[in-house]
Amino acid sequence: MQLVGIAKAAAAAPTLSAKRTVSYSHLPTGKWINRVADSRHSFDWSINPYRGCEMACQYCYARYTHEFMELRDPTDFETRIFAKQWHPASFRDELARIPLSQPIAIGTATDPYQHAERRYELTRRILEVFATHSGRKLWITTKSDLPVRDLDLLTRVARRHLLYINFTITTLDATLARGLEPKAPRPDLRLAALQNLRQAGIQCGVIASPVLPGLNDSEAQLTALAHAARAAGAQWFGGGVLFLKSPTREVFFDYLTREHPHLLARYQDSFHAAARLPIDYQRRIEQRFDRLRDATGLGRKATPYLPPDWESGRQLALDLH
Ligand code: SF4
Repeated sequence: MQLVGIAKAAAAAPTLSAKRTVSYSHLPTGKWINRVADSRHSFDWSINPYRGCEMACQYCYARYTHEFMELRDPTDFETRIFAKQWHPASFRDELARIPLSQPIAIGTATDPYQHAERRYELTRRILEVFATHSGRKLWITTKSDLPVRDLDLLTRVARRHLLYINFTITTLDATLARGLEPKAPRPDLRLAALQNLRQAGIQCGVIASPVLPGLNDSEAQLTALAHAARAAGAQWFGGGVLFLKSPTREVFFDYLTREHPHLLARYQDSFHAAARLPIDYQRRIEQRFDRLRDATGLGRKATPYLPPDWESGRQLALDLH
């Protein structure tokens, strides 16, 4: 088969280094910032510095994106990691074409603070660009404690832009988390990172996605998580229910077979014909989050603030009201 486009670039990408189970490659990229077509999102543009993600979450919906590179084994997503080749001038050019009013999210398909970030520092380089101007609305979503490395830089960015950081925490149970998210930092480390960032004045919240029936959806588990988020200083709390389709479905069913065989038939029935769970389950979970927010005083979503070094404060005031 003749490979074209990103599949050809991925096949030709030289391997930079290989750990026992993971290889890293540089991927030429002509576009750093992508338009988000789905109007349900609160951002218009996305930045994903890496393709693939070593955190290896068993439920990760983004596994299918490696198929664009003709990498058909769904576990390739967690073992063949591509770091986009950094071209600061191209990045700046792309950014300059995006109106300040259009929010940008970093880490929508892969984690911007995954392990590869320790060696390639692409997210850090992106933040360094944002630290040179002001007036944007930025989101970062991560399952890592690595943002603490960039505390000074994030603080500078948060003084110039509206910066919001989502920490994804699905459970406080370290054993459950180890099975579900084998290479992500422990939940308590993520909470500690959130606390660190909050003490520096950075806006942070906890997203408990995905909610997984029979695993992390009980009142007791979500209540404990909401209170831990509150204690760490989180400002908002929420989460969505599992979305499961091939090839992630097969990976997740393998995980259930290994670790929670009593749940396998229930999940197979539920996701046999649809990628989402029935609407009444989704509503019950939404109501559970509503109750927990009421009980803890956590917000449903981030609230605007006025960054001290925002150069167009008047415009911000108009946007906010
Ligand atoms: S951290 Fe996010 S992108 Fe990475 S494997 Fe987990 S769910 Fe997927």
